[in-house]
Formats: sequence, structure tokens, C-alpha cells
Amino acid sequence: MHATAGQSLDFARIPHPSPVPAAERNTLIAAPGFGTVFTDHMVMIEYDADRGWHSATLGPRGPLSLDPACAVLHYAQEIFEGMKAYKLADGTMALFRPEQNARRFNDSADRLAMPNLPEKVFVEAVRRLVLADKDWFPMVEGGSIYLRPFMFASEAFLGVRPAKQYKFLVIASPSGNYFKSGAPAVSIWVSENYTRAAPGGTGAAKCGGNYAASLVPHANAVARGFDQVCFLDAAEHKWIEELGGMNLFFAFEDGTLLTPQLTGTILPGITRDSIIKLAREEGLTVKEGRYSFDQWRADAESGHLLETFACGTAAVVTPVGRVAGAAGEFTIGGGGPGQLTERIREKLVGIQRGTIKDRHGWVHRID
Ligand SMILES: *Cc1c(COP(=O)(O)O)cnc(C)c1O
Repeated sequence: MHATAGQSLDFARIPHPSPVPAAERNTLIAAPGFGTVFTDHMVMIEYDADRGWHSATLGPRGPLSLDPACAVLHYAQEIFEGMKAYKLADGTMALFRPEQNARRFNDSADRLAMPNLPEKVFVEAVRRLVLADKDWFPMVEGGSIYLRPFMFASEAFLGVRPAKQYKFLVIASPSGNYFKSGAPAVSIWVSENYTRAAPGGTGAAKCGGNYAASLVPHANAVARGFDQVCFLDAAEHKWIEELGGMNLFFAFEDGTLLTPQLTGTILPGITRDSIIKLAREEGLTVKEGRYSFDQWRADAESGHLLETFACGTAAVVTPVGRVAGAAGEFTIGGGGPGQLTERIREKLVGIQRGTIKDRHGWVHRID
């Protein structure tokens, strides 16, 4: 199942018969929001068990035609990634740690019994799409092109076994700030009756099924007046895991930072990993460990806990202000963005945008 680390593919370029006219495109990218505007092109690569990966194209974005027995529609064999193309201060387009997305994609593929895509091909597919659609870059504060590589089982077959045919695609969506900068902190409802991931399950894989399972608890949180749902562990319903699509960090008065450890039920965020490295570089003690909901409340109430923030590619770093569960509600710090949260956000965004020196080789220039 593990393909060929160095394999490369030729991408056929299919000309676009009718790209969106410049005036219309400029209107669309003036206020892109998140996930609703799409660029002109997409990448598609086909896989079948006999030929491996083949027929790579960069062509017009458009609907797919699928057999109604297409395996993904029945058994949810689907994985994805989320990453962004940034424009550096000098105008160059860049990706942030794209090889990490490529690697995680293959980890997800392994868990879902899907074929690996060579990391080089993954990064090259993303790079080509960004360059083809770079006129879609939104010139708004915090603007980026959000990229969505994904793979699904395309074989028409209703038996239960790993499919023999797959499609890998990349689509792109110009986006503004997920949450406006300076926006008030998000509020969180801690779900005590729904879980996101169980030991031995698919929690560490970025698969669509995890999101499907999180929609009801998320909707319940929103119905109660909260922005996001926070999940506890499935075994004891006690330990903080993560939000539906973001990892969590806790900052204490003694200068330590804590994030739940990766036990197989938490998605290993690339933002999470970058923050751990940046915080350690600043001299902070970062612990990966267990943190219970009860302790979270006690520490917030005693003042031992100063800040909590959520992190992920889409929203970068987002302060958490208000937390509630069945037993009542508490506030973190002053209820707004804390100093450490702001500092870490500025550092990460600065590296991504090329205004702060990249000492880790994280910024991957693509043109
Ligand atoms: C994608 C994702 C994250 C954040 O990962 P990043 O690599 O930082 O974007 C966190 N939790 C879940 C469940 C995710 O799917």
C-alpha cells in the first residue's frame, strides 16, 4: 500500500474554456469570507490498484460524475487536508510546512485503508494549483488561498473491503480571516454526552467521517448560544481532547503551556506542533499531558489558569473566553484575548507572512 516515495507524475494542463472574468473575480475576492468562493481550476489524479497513480491533470474546476454505487457514498472512505497559500511581504506566494500536510495525508490514508500518494506529488499538485490561480489571491487583511486536497474511494462496488479505485483532488478557495482579528474570544460548550473519537478509532486521521459525527454536538452547542463544542475523552468523559476542528492550549501563571497529548484520539495539528516549537524557543515550558474538565474550571476560578486558546490552519490562533458544561459556566482570564495568545498568534502569522524571520525552514516559496 505504501507507494514509491520519489515517484513523480506529469500533469496534463487542460485549458479553461471560460474562466471567471477579471471584474467578477475581483468582486468575489473583495469579501471572500470562508469556503464559499472557489477558483477556476482544480487538480485531479486517478488511482487504481493495477496502474497506481496516473492521469494527473490541472484543469477547469467543475462537477464530478460518479456512479451511484461509488464506494465513498456508502462507506465513507474519504480523507482530506486543510492548508493555505500566503503572500509574503515581498509578493512571493508560499505554503507553510506543506510536507507535513503530505505526510499526515498518508497517515490518514493508512488508517482508512487507502493508497499513499507520494509526498512530492502532493506538494507539486498544490503548488501547481496555486500558481494557476494566483490571480484569485484576496487582497484583504489576513487574506490567503485556502487549499483543500482530498481523496475518496471512487470504485463502483458495494462489497465491504478497501476500494480499488480512488481520486485525489485539490480545490482552492480564497479566504479572509476566519475570525476577524481583534474579535472577541470564542465561547465553548463542553459536551459530556457526545464524543468525537475513541481509542482505536479514527480520531487522529483527517477523515470526513469524524466531522459528520461532530455535527450534532456542534449544533447543540450553537443552540445553547456557544460558538464551538469541546470534546472529552470517550472512556472516562473527563479529559479535555479538542474542538471539532481545532486543538487547545492552556497557559498558566507560572509561565507553562499545556496541550492535551496525542493519544490517537486527537488530530495532530500542524499549528499545534508549530506553536509548541515557537513557545519552547521563547523559553516557555510546554507540557503535553492530560487535563481534566474539572481541573480546567478550578484553575480558571483560582486564577492559576490565565489563558486558553484554540488553534488550527483556518483560524490560526483563537482565544477562548467563556466555557460551559452541564454543571455551569466559567470565564477564562478577562474573557478576551490574553497576552500570550496574542504574542503567539503574531509570531506565527508573522512567520507565515514573511514579516518575521523563518528560522525553521517552514516557509515553502512556490514561485
Ligand atoms: C485539521 C484539524 C485540526 C488542526 O490541524 P492544523 O494542521 O493545525 O490545521 C485540529 N483538529 C481537527 C479535528 C482537525 O481536523
